[in-house]
Amino acid sequence: MTVIDGSQQLHIDKEKLRRKYLEERNKRLRADGNDQYVQVKDQLAHYLDDPYTPVTPREPKTDHVSFAFIGGGFAGLVTSARLAEGGVTDVRIIEKGGDFGGTWYWNRYPGAQCDTASMVYMPLLEETGHMPSEKYAHAPEILEHCRRIGRQYKLYDNALFHTEVTSLAWDEAASRWVIHTNRGDAFTAQFIGLGTGPLHVPKLPGIPGIEAFKGHSFHTSRWDYGYTGGDPSGAPMDRLADKRVGIIGTGATSVQCVPHLARAAKELYVFQRTPSSVDVRANAPIDPEWFSTIATPGWQQRWLENFTANQAGGNATEDLVQDGWTDLSRRIRSKIMQLPREQRIPKNMLAAFEDSDFEKMEEIRKRVDAIVGDRETAAKLKAWYRQLCKRPCFHDEYLQAFNTPGTNLVDTDGKGVERITEAGVVVAGEEYRLDCIIYASGFEVGTEYRRRSGFDLIGRGGVRLSEHWADGMRTKHGIHVNGFPNAFFVQPTQGANLISNVPHNLTEAARTIALIVTHARENGFKEIEVTGKAEDDWVELLLTGAGRMIGGPDCTPGYYNNEGREPGPAARLNVGHPAGAMAYFKYIDAWRSAGDFEGLRFR
Ligand code: NDP
Repeated sequence: MTVIDGSQQLHIDKEKLRRKYLEERNKRLRADGNDQYVQVKDQLAHYLDDPYTPVTPREPKTDHVSFAFIGGGFAGLVTSARLAEGGVTDVRIIEKGGDFGGTWYWNRYPGAQCDTASMVYMPLLEETGHMPSEKYAHAPEILEHCRRIGRQYKLYDNALFHTEVTSLAWDEAASRWVIHTNRGDAFTAQFIGLGTGPLHVPKLPGIPGIEAFKGHSFHTSRWDYGYTGGDPSGAPMDRLADKRVGIIGTGATSVQCVPHLARAAKELYVFQRTPSSVDVRANAPIDPEWFSTIATPGWQQRWLENFTANQAGGNATEDLVQDGWTDLSRRIRSKIMQLPREQRIPKNMLAAFEDSDFEKMEEIRKRVDAIVGDRETAAKLKAWYRQLCKRPCFHDEYLQAFNTPGTNLVDTDGKGVERITEAGVVVAGEEYRLDCIIYASGFEVGTEYRRRSGFDLIGRGGVRLSEHWADGMRTKHGIHVNGFPNAFFVQPTQGANLISNVPHNLTEAARTIALIVTHARENGFKEIEVTGKAEDDWVELLLTGAGRMIGGPDCTPGYYNNEGREPGPAARLNVGHPAGAMAYFKYIDAWRSAGDFEGLRFR
């Protein structure tokens, strides 16, 4: 296949590429799958300590609230904001961190910034009147935005920080939830919301000797600025000037923090198992003058809809956001559209998708050659898999960092770090002596909901959520679960499942929940529950779809594809609306407007 792309001509040998992708995948397949990671507990529990906010003593709560929300990230904030707008003012957010922010509370590593454009990623911009300072805002601004939402909607008054729910049980007689926490709280709520997020439990690789290291170590989501110097706003990490630092992992987090470490450390060793695909970032400040011209009433909803239309199932002619995500999907769509209409059958469309992917990945590999000076290092930084096998990354300083004197890529040829000793890290029999090891090893994904949330919901008749979901997740709209009245899940799966912009899923769910709860309150209903039939029908509809677009079984292992292992039948339910995110958002809008709350029972 030969592609003319601007001034470049790419010659792509598709068969050769397919073989190479498979070879690289097979190299990385391991029998232990998700079990290669260790749960952060017992002697490793200190990796979870909050380095940002001291825990303050408080009296346990034993009162009653209208709505309790588990999780103080975007899900909890947007749902509580919409509830407040609907007149529900005693919402209590329960959050394990020391403030609002969720992922943005914990992830303060240097260089952290959103990978989806701020204009669509940051929720409630119009409601709060905030103009993002950059196309891709940095973490401190996003954390501050979370606090802004908390303040504007008066969510601080009732919030419980540094608090983890230990049990949630439905009290049948009183039609309310009974909530216990690790701070001794035992209170009740008429309604509960669950927004614990998909990536909030840090994981560590089960590398032999991980406990033996005598130097300093921490996980990227608990950045120790006391040790490194500097701060989340980008002040130089001056205490690393005489340190040999190792970072394990080269996913989206590592891509963002490596350039900062490269600048600060005396020597930096980046331990790589699989390279990320790193495309152009092109971040830029947002011009207030331009912003004032576009920020007319309803602007954020228009931008959200336009982004989704470009991303997932729409026919947008205009691309307001113009970023790596919309570029990716517009390219795929344009390849498909090049097919004569009568040839647009699934087989040809999938082939067009693959062609578009080959081209994109070739460009990304060429980018490595253009940026990285050392040929051997450049070769090792090239990603050999289809782009949606792993989380696509975008950065304009990551590859460049490997040109910095003192920054070393230690590629493990897909095998991973071999061992950790008292003094450092061993790869292929060679020990790299280090003062500090930073784990950029990600978060638990494939583990059970109750392990990640720390509790199991006990619903009507004492049935546990883990029992109800034993064969996979079952909901209506990704929000309601039969047997668990007055409980609302706020997350993307079984709804729009728009992974390129998770907050859009959350803001839509928030709107739906606020409407349902205000309807119940205005009409004196004590209970809301999805019927078993409505839940079954929704699950049946989900199963008519083509399945997941990301992380197929042929992909190199990672959390997108259950580390390359057969995920079991339950995984077929980890999908979104069969017609795509755009169709889901249109559907749910119509469902809300109909006003009959189809599938729900109020009493
Ligand atoms: P990931 O799970 O993506 O990456 C973990 C890294 O650790 C991988 O490179 C993995 O290699 C490597 N690793 C694991 N075990 C070993 C080992 N034994 N030896 C060497 N390397 C090892 O975690 P991240 O924190 O980077 O990202 C998690 C997710 O968080 C992202 O996918 C994204 O969804 C989100 N995120 C979003 C950001 C944003 O929007 N701005 C920024 C950062 C993260 P391998 O690939 O071979 O498994």
